[in-house]
Amino acid sequence: MSKRNFEDYNLSDTIKRALDVLKYENPTEVQREVIPRAMENEDLVVKSQTGTGKTASFGIPICQMIEWEEKNPQAIILTPTRELAVQVREDVTNIGRFKRIKAAAVYGKEPFARQKEELKQKTHVVVGTPGRVMDHIERGTLALDQINYLIIDEADEMLNMGFINEVESIIKELPANRATMVFSATLPKDVENLCYKYMKNPTHIDIEDTGITTSTIQHKLIEVKNEEKISLLKDVTVVENPDSCIIFCRTKEHVDIVFTELDQANYPCQRLHGGLEQDDRFAVMEGFKTGEFRYLVATDVAARGIDIDNVTLVINYDVPMEKESYVHRTGRTGRVGNKGKAITFANPNEGKKLNSIERYIGFEIPVIEAPNRQEVASTQATFDEKLSGRRIVKNNKTERINKDIMKLHFNGGKKKKIRAVDFVGTIAKIPGVSADDIGIITIKDSLSYVDILNGKGSVVLQAMENTTIKGKKLKVSKAIK
Ligand code: AMP
Repeated sequence: MSKRNFEDYNLSDTIKRALDVLKYENPTEVQREVIPRAMENEDLVVKSQTGTGKTASFGIPICQMIEWEEKNPQAIILTPTRELAVQVREDVTNIGRFKRIKAAAVYGKEPFARQKEELKQKTHVVVGTPGRVMDHIERGTLALDQINYLIIDEADEMLNMGFINEVESIIKELPANRATMVFSATLPKDVENLCYKYMKNPTHIDIEDTGITTSTIQHKLIEVKNEEKISLLKDVTVVENPDSCIIFCRTKEHVDIVFTELDQANYPCQRLHGGLEQDDRFAVMEGFKTGEFRYLVATDVAARGIDIDNVTLVINYDVPMEKESYVHRTGRTGRVGNKGKAITFANPNEGKKLNSIERYIGFEIPVIEAPNRQEVASTQATFDEKLSGRRIVKNNKTERINKDIMKLHFNGGKKKKIRAVDFVGTIAKIPGVSADDIGIITIKDSLSYVDILNGKGSVVLQAMENTTIKGKKLKVSKAIK
């Protein structure tokens, strides 16, 4: 099972092309173990951390195996948080971009009706949080008859968040003839029981790489009294002068305090915790990803699964309550080939908690001194300079994959009896354009969106200004988003 090259997996050209644009040159360890087995429809229990490439380990085989023509969903991916659902949907969409895989994300706190509408369209993959997925199942808005794959991502976190019963109820609704893959950083008893009960002789895969490597992440510890943490935080950030930094706090209240302090000191920063509106949470994540600000102050909400390129420094402003959380937090940096640093602030009473973390990660976190006044003074000017400049994000995968894609908006849809084939038939007849240049088509009641690939957007836009679809003249324009 150790084919070392994406070429060895019999992937179609459309998938290989996406991997190429995403710059996935060689499979990671978890991908080498999972991809070939998933393509044989084996049931798998995979112990692995985020940051190891696990999303693509199931995303690649799913995108490969999906029958494009089928209208009903063929894979369900369950995630514990809404942020992760959105992230996984994005990863799957990117991998399946050139095969025109349509992935939908469904999660709580977003209007049900909007998701219901989306699910009425052709949808290959549904990614969602258990509660909302169950809701859709119960209300008959999510068809299950074609589900061939169930992926349970971050299963241990599902358990921590009390979702395990909902996960079980969902499993019971699914066709028995499916492949199930469970991904989890740890395998608590309840997760194992679930696997035992509902999986067919699953293969256990244990990816040793915990993501907690001293080779890519430098771990440091600074001892500090609670009342001196803020000033230590400022000193550390000046001396480290990170390109991008996540500061983790234990509670919402601490996040608010730290955020206010940094904001007042003119740090380009934002905050993220469960008390914020969902839209604001997404906006903050997106802003951090695209480099609008350098400092993110967050509770553990942001620690799980979220893929942000190039976080150079993680600061544990508070020692995490759970040892696993240390791994998730620090795993935000040093991702796939990058180097990172994780600095933990610990007050004199936190020895016990630290011991438990150190036992878990298998090494002692080296203690360093707080930066002294001289060090801070000598780096202040460089720090101030960087603070006023924008962060450059070098590796926005989604942007790269969408580079040659233009979304067109047509002012007609179902009410005019227009179907996807009508768009394909018309657009593929434009000189120099073929069906391969047409991406995802979304048809709503009175409007439609058509993605045009391969840099052919302008040609199609121009041609469609003077072409009818099914004998009807529609207004066409470049879609705003
Ligand atoms: P994950 O463990 O799914 O959170 O993935 C961690 C990061 O690795 C993400 O930024 C992925 O886009 C990236 N990644 C996944 N597979 C590969 C690969 N084969 N080569 C390089 N980067 C990858």
